[in-house]
Amino acid sequence: MARLRTDMTTIRLHNTKSRRKEEFIPLDPKNVRMYVCGPTVYDRAHLGNARPVIVFDVLNRLLRHVYGADHVTYVRNFTDVDDKINATALARQKAGAAGSLEELIAQRSDETIGWYHDDMDALGALRPDLEPRATDFVGQMVVMIADLVAKGNAYEAEGHVLFAVESYSDYGALSGRSIDDMIAGARVEVAPYKRNPMDFVLWKPSSDAQPGWDSPWGRGRPGWHIECSAMSYELLGASFDIHGGGNDLQFPHHENEIAQSACAHPGAEFARYWVHNEMLQVEGKKMSKSLGNFFTVRDLLDQGVAGEAMRFVFLGTHYGKPMDWTEAKRAEAEATLRKWYQVLHSHGMTVESVKALKSAGKWATDAEFIGVLANDLNTHGAIARLHVLSKAHTAEGLAPFAAGLEVLGLIDDWADLPALAGVDGVVDAVEDWVGAVIAGLLAKRQAARAAKDFATADEVRDVLNAAGVQVTDVAGQASWQPGPDFDASKLEGLK
Ligand code: AMP
Ligand code: ZN
Repeated sequence: MARLRTDMTTIRLHNTKSRRKEEFIPLDPKNVRMYVCGPTVYDRAHLGNARPVIVFDVLNRLLRHVYGADHVTYVRNFTDVDDKINATALARQKAGAAGSLEELIAQRSDETIGWYHDDMDALGALRPDLEPRATDFVGQMVVMIADLVAKGNAYEAEGHVLFAVESYSDYGALSGRSIDDMIAGARVEVAPYKRNPMDFVLWKPSSDAQPGWDSPWGRGRPGWHIECSAMSYELLGASFDIHGGGNDLQFPHHENEIAQSACAHPGAEFARYWVHNEMLQVEGKKMSKSLGNFFTVRDLLDQGVAGEAMRFVFLGTHYGKPMDWTEAKRAEAEATLRKWYQVLHSHGMTVESVKALKSAGKWATDAEFIGVLANDLNTHGAIARLHVLSKAHTAEGLAPFAAGLEVLGLIDDWADLPALAGVDGVVDAVEDWVGAVIAGLLAKRQAARAAKDFATADEVRDVLNAAGVQVTDVAGQASWQPGPDFDASKLEGLK
């Protein structure tokens, strides 16, 4: 029986399965297990793909905070069986690239996985403990499919193996639909060999131009849904705690995962808490190539938007609500973060002082901050609490603020702080005379303010604004960074 732990933070999560917020009680607090559907690795991740990464990274960090860093297993897969990957590999082969089709397919997946790691690292997402690739688990998928056939939940037809949805009476329970509703609402692939139009593919035949594996049903490849059922079973067991993904995956992908796993492992629970993030939009519109508002995480990084700023924008909206990416939010995130990092920097937060605070046991998180976050990942509320905590006046007093930034993944390496605060690197990149002119202007502004000569202080401010210089005042100290419209030529007259 689960022991009531009063010393442990209670996490609450909205469980799609029950449609309500539930207290999270793991099967084994020594090994909390979470599976999240990962990307199909055919191209760069777009900004929407970053949403589940950040949402479940925050949950992973919170679980580690509550249960201990070594007591969580977070699995996120790579789907590397996909027609778009094949198409790129085939096009490269036709263009004269060396290697077999299998090698070129693996090359394309490796390349895309490398990009994915770079881009998600830049967003401050910790790598999951395990990142299985579907192609490494095809043998286990074949075993699971054969078992489903033997149990009467799947059947072979024309080289395909299909799951018989009518063999599983709870089919549709997660999204609350009946099979008839689903047939009416979904664009199902009609095929003469299907017994029920909703029956879905577990295995399909491959042509010579497609990757294939030997199986009892001939050379072929697995369907998408069986990947997650097989990999979660192999790595986390027949029953585990949390299953996550975007809510576009609820139906059919997650319904199908449940049907496969429940029938393959009767008596087990499969995933106990289903957590779904809502979709991302751009300036109020669905992100799509045809609307011209489609962009990747890399596009934004290349434009100079910091990963921390993107992350901060995501954290501003609850994961269960649709969120909008706007330029205004980006600018606001950048301003808030710069201010926060400067507060920490100007109060002497360094790698050494953080280490000293941690070893002296003075790195406690704020109970209210954790409590808010643990209430169904209220990241917006947690940020509001950080605004309050950021008002402390000493490094030690700021420790709960800094520890909160760590829990939200807004800083991992304290050696990065000077660069994040804009007091390093960015300012070094401008020519010496520019720094000297701006320092002179800031000194003039300070003297004018001290003398209550506000007309002069305003004049200086206008000159700085016109040149696109952003000034931040923290604890009586002014610092500056080149803003997005920075133009040093506007300062030339002051040389
Ligand atoms: P995919 O590579 O398309 O299978 O998607 C990978 C992950 O990104 C899945 O968890 C999707 O639910 C999620 N995803 C895709 N588009 C969006 C979007 N616009 N907003 C939020 N999540 C998305
Ligand atoms: Zn999945």
